[in-house]
Amino acid sequence: MKASHFLISTLKEAPADAEIVSHQLMTRAGMIKKLGAGVYSYMPMGLRVIRKVEAIVREEMNRAGAIEVTMPVVQPAEAWQETGRFNKMGPELLRFQDRHGRDFVIQPTSEEVVTDIARQEFKSYKQLPKNLYQIQTKFRDERRPRFGLMRGREFTMKDAYSFDKDRDSAQASYQTMRDAYQRIFDRFGLQYRAVRADSGAIGGDLSEEFQVIAATGEDAIVYCPNSDYAANIEKAESLAPAGPRPAASEALEKIATPGNSTCQAVADQLGLPLARTIKSLVLATDEVNEAGEIVKTQVWLLLLRGDHDMNEVKVNKVDGLANFRFASLAEIQDHFGCEPGYLGPLNLQKPVKLVVDREVAVMADWICGANEKDFHIRGVNFGRDLPEPALVADLRNVVAGDPSPDGQGPLAIERGIEIGHVFYLGTKYSEAMNATFLADNGKPTHFEMGCYGIGITRLPAAAIEQNHDERGIIWPDAIAPFTVVLCPIGMDRSELVKQAAEKLYADLLALGVDVILDDRGERPGAMFADWELIGVPHRVVLGDRGLKEGLVEYQHRRDAAATPVPLADVVAQLK
Ligand code: ATP
Ligand code: MG
Ligand code: MG
Ligand code: MG
Repeated sequence: MKASHFLISTLKEAPADAEIVSHQLMTRAGMIKKLGAGVYSYMPMGLRVIRKVEAIVREEMNRAGAIEVTMPVVQPAEAWQETGRFNKMGPELLRFQDRHGRDFVIQPTSEEVVTDIARQEFKSYKQLPKNLYQIQTKFRDERRPRFGLMRGREFTMKDAYSFDKDRDSAQASYQTMRDAYQRIFDRFGLQYRAVRADSGAIGGDLSEEFQVIAATGEDAIVYCPNSDYAANIEKAESLAPAGPRPAASEALEKIATPGNSTCQAVADQLGLPLARTIKSLVLATDEVNEAGEIVKTQVWLLLLRGDHDMNEVKVNKVDGLANFRFASLAEIQDHFGCEPGYLGPLNLQKPVKLVVDREVAVMADWICGANEKDFHIRGVNFGRDLPEPALVADLRNVVAGDPSPDGQGPLAIERGIEIGHVFYLGTKYSEAMNATFLADNGKPTHFEMGCYGIGITRLPAAAIEQNHDERGIIWPDAIAPFTVVLCPIGMDRSELVKQAAEKLYADLLALGVDVILDDRGERPGAMFADWELIGVPHRVVLGDRGLKEGLVEYQHRRDAAATPVPLADVVAQLK
């Protein structure tokens, strides 16, 4: 590629909304262009990176035996109604109607459609196992799209789905994907950790995330430096005894003041170890008479935010007065008179007070009990999206230094960016959609499934969080937009420079090196600044004086200074 034929559009300043370094640098390097909240054009320089990410992922998925397919971005609602997710999923699922008033969704993930394919195609156990994957556009109407490609609304995901005849085989498929993920992330040269994860709204009981270690990550990872224990804080455990709880009524009165509470304040005031992304709390207090009998229980639903992926919330009083079932947060809001529309994830909108007189169980994602004397919390609902990183850091259900659950020493906590997620799903979707094959006993049997995602467009952003300096991006070779840049000085004035540059360019191209020749005629300072910002890992500068002695200057993007190298050797060094 010659720079004069390409689109290079670097910026001195980052846009005001770019809070983290990857967003700033990708914008300044001309890799992405914002169209709207969480919606970006991938500019030519950025697209080259994304295509390299895709190529590596595709290669390793194929190597692992997965088969590529492409499913529709716009999906009729029928399959989503079969699994119930059309109604159950929160507002992240973008729904719309066509001209005939038929319901559609834009795929945020594709379990329904792939299960529909499987039930038509895989008729016999002899066709199993199978793994179908796509690298495709997804849309999630994220409550807080931010950080550029890190949390977009439209983004590219690799999503794979395995179909097996039984549980053992499904777990082997899970392991195959897990191994492939390790190879993939090793090839990107990233520092990452595989951690136990919550299976959230998708369900299933075996689930791990791949987290790129970065201070700006939205997730907190708990790990034991002496063993392989590592878990997302949502799922983390420790051997630490539960701490004392403050007096209930006082704490509740404080947090019951609308507007005064953030997640942090809730945690502080209750003295509670809370995980980072609290959507709601169900708190309960008991009033006890002199005989020690519970005479009244108050249940407080603290609705911190409104984008639940909720199945069903049941506030259930065992003996009598209150018995509510809610299918959505909206219903809870209606029932208890909360204002619709929340101020934002950190503002406690309005606590809801329910008064019942004995045991209370809040089911589904929310679990709570209230039959002990003191105020306590039995369950906290942890969400997906999150509050401010600065606040999040201290919202923990496990604290650094707590004893690891495997007894191997104190736990440490670091922050991470979720770039991949592997899930064992079991028969959740195959049962809901009655997707069966004929087993070797001749009986129709539900597929055992797994699903496996990689954030293709999140990955470059995560790579930048780990690889940058004050001048710009430092790409790992595997995903650099170009691996080598040739910077001739005074190409228009010196025939020697022009010829050497053109020849070196042709030689490298012939060897398959992904090289760009900067023939724009920029001044050296501006030219170097551009390539340092863009982050091409290898740079060769060709100048008249050096060439007269047969020398060029080589500099890796991480090197402090350039090294003179004989022109004759430079091809061998770069190939
Ligand atoms: P997060 O916790 O960050 O919201 P998720 O758990 O909702 O992610 P999954 O459903 O597990 O995401 O999707 C698989 C992968 O897709 C994630 O591991 C992540 O890398 C990527 N991904 C998810 N949401 C986004 C997004 N809004 N923008 C870019 N990539 C995303
Ligand atoms: Mg997640
Ligand atoms: Mg999410
Ligand atoms: Mg996930």
